[in-house]
Amino acid sequence: MFRVRLHGRGGQGIKTASQILGSAAFFSGFQAQDFPLYGAERRGAPIVAFTRINRQNILERGPILVPDILLIGDESLLEDIQAAPLCGADNFTAIFINSSRLPEKLQENYSLSTLPHVLDITSLCVKFLDNGSSTSAAIAAVGARLLGQIEFPALKEAVELELNAQGINSDLRKKNIDLAEEVFQLLTPMEVKERPEKNITSSKLISSEQKPVVLAAPIILEPGNMALRKTGNWRLDRPEIDYEHCNNCLICYARCPDGVIGIKTDGSPEIDYDHCKGCLICAQECPGHFIKTVKESGSWE
Ligand code: SF4
Ligand code: SF4
Repeated sequence: MFRVRLHGRGGQGIKTASQILGSAAFFSGFQAQDFPLYGAERRGAPIVAFTRINRQNILERGPILVPDILLIGDESLLEDIQAAPLCGADNFTAIFINSSRLPEKLQENYSLSTLPHVLDITSLCVKFLDNGSSTSAAIAAVGARLLGQIEFPALKEAVELELNAQGINSDLRKKNIDLAEEVFQLLTPMEVKERPEKNITSSKLISSEQKPVVLAAPIILEPGNMALRKTGNWRLDRPEIDYEHCNNCLICYARCPDGVIGIKTDGSPEIDYDHCKGCLICAQECPGHFIKTVKESGSWE
């Protein structure tokens, strides 16, 4: 069984990447299982998805704790202790990071035990799709190529199937297939070491007691602690107000769903970048389009 875990941010197409990878494996004669895990948050929030690939039926369920292949679609997640994308990775795990940096530099920065596979997926997405956040086909292509047991025609069929199911038009599907092919050709298959399976024996059934909900969920003891959770590192894109043209109508202030646009003493809006998640609703709502969007880059250096 091959277990692939994918990490990214809401809006990057990580869930779709896991679906494409699962379908590509299925078209290659494997059994496949894929599913995402994310909370109620929107664009920019860390999300994780899982794909299991096996020649036999897959009976294992639940999140993949120890992955064979780890696909990290956003380098900044490596610094997010809550996303913890390296959790469970061991010497058997092949790690891929979407980055423009050298593998050696990444290995040193993040104390990785093995040299990661690296490709600047974001730039390729900009080149082929004019959208650096739409990484689903590219990330799936990385997984398929690294696994070394999926040929490009199966991947192509999977991209076509999954993007068509999402209502993506044929022109954009074609661009995604071209992108997937480029990624497929830029990487070389690796030797994925199949992890020795553990003998799983049945254990005594434990009947869990129903506890009051306050015991089952995180308990927030301090009042007003939202400010401590800095969600600014979730951003893919950064909204920047053009103060030369802004007329202080404050529509952005009213529409920001997270209430992170404040009002300065001169009456103009001000974005709190420690907490702005980059949903870009403010940019859409500004009547004069005076909020531009700027791509965020890595959060270190
Ligand atoms: S400031 Fe803009 S981009 Fe940031 S959270 Fe608010 S609406 Fe979204
Ligand atoms: S909505 Fe646009 S014009 Fe109005 S305050 Fe915000 S940035 Fe300025």
